[in-house]
Amino acid sequence: MRLAHLWDQSKCIGCGACVAACNAANYESTDAPNPTWGGLRTNILRITFDLEAKPYLLLVQCQHCENAPCVSVCPTGASYVDGDGLVKIKPELCIGCKYCMTACPYGMRWLEPETGLPRKCMSEECLDRLKAGLQPVCVTVCPASARAFGDLDDPGSEVSKRLRGGRVIRLLANKGTRPKYFVVVGR
Ligand code: SF4
Ligand code: SF4
Repeated sequence: MRLAHLWDQSKCIGCGACVAACNAANYESTDAPNPTWGGLRTNILRITFDLEAKPYLLLVQCQHCENAPCVSVCPTGASYVDGDGLVKIKPELCIGCKYCMTACPYGMRWLEPETGLPRKCMSEECLDRLKAGLQPVCVTVCPASARAFGDLDDPGSEVSKRLRGGRVIRLLANKGTRPKYFVVVGR
C-alpha cells in the first residue's frame, strides 16, 4: 500500500477551505501563529507567486516521500515510513532535535512552540479519520473536488484514476525523494 495525496491545481479555486479545515480538525481552530511558516497552524502551506499575467497559487504539504530525508536523519526512529506508505511521527520518541526539519527539502515540518516538537501532514485527527475509513479532512471539505487521497497500488483508487487522466508534476522530483504529492496542472 502506498497512500498518496493529489491536488488538482487546474480545479482549485483558491478558497482556502482545506487550509482552514486542517487548522480546525488538527489544531482546534487555534488562531495562535505558526512560528515557522507564519499564518495559521495547519499542515498545508499556501504560496502565492505574483506573476505579471495572473497570481499563481501553490498548495504544498508533506509529500510523504518514499525516500524521505526526514526519516533517514532521525536519530531515534521517531520519524518513520508506516506500512501504509505515509511518513508519520511517534511523538513519544521525538527529542526535538529538529534534524528532520532541516533535512526536509520542502520545508514541510513546522515547530510547535508549546511542545518543541515538529508537526506536519498528517496529524492525529486525520490519522484517526483514516482508521475509521474516512478521507483526510482537506479532501472532504474541498468544494471544487481539487483534492484526492488514496492508494497508488490500487488502480481503482481515486488518486490512481486521476493520475491516468491528467498532466501531473511532482515537486522537487530531482531531489530523489520520490514524493507522493501529485500536482495536476492540466489535462
Ligand atoms: S516532504 Fe519533508 S517531511 Fe514530508 S516525507 Fe518528505 S522529507 Fe519528510
Ligand atoms: S479547498 Fe479545494 S479549492 Fe479550496 S483551496 Fe483547497 S484545494 Fe483549492
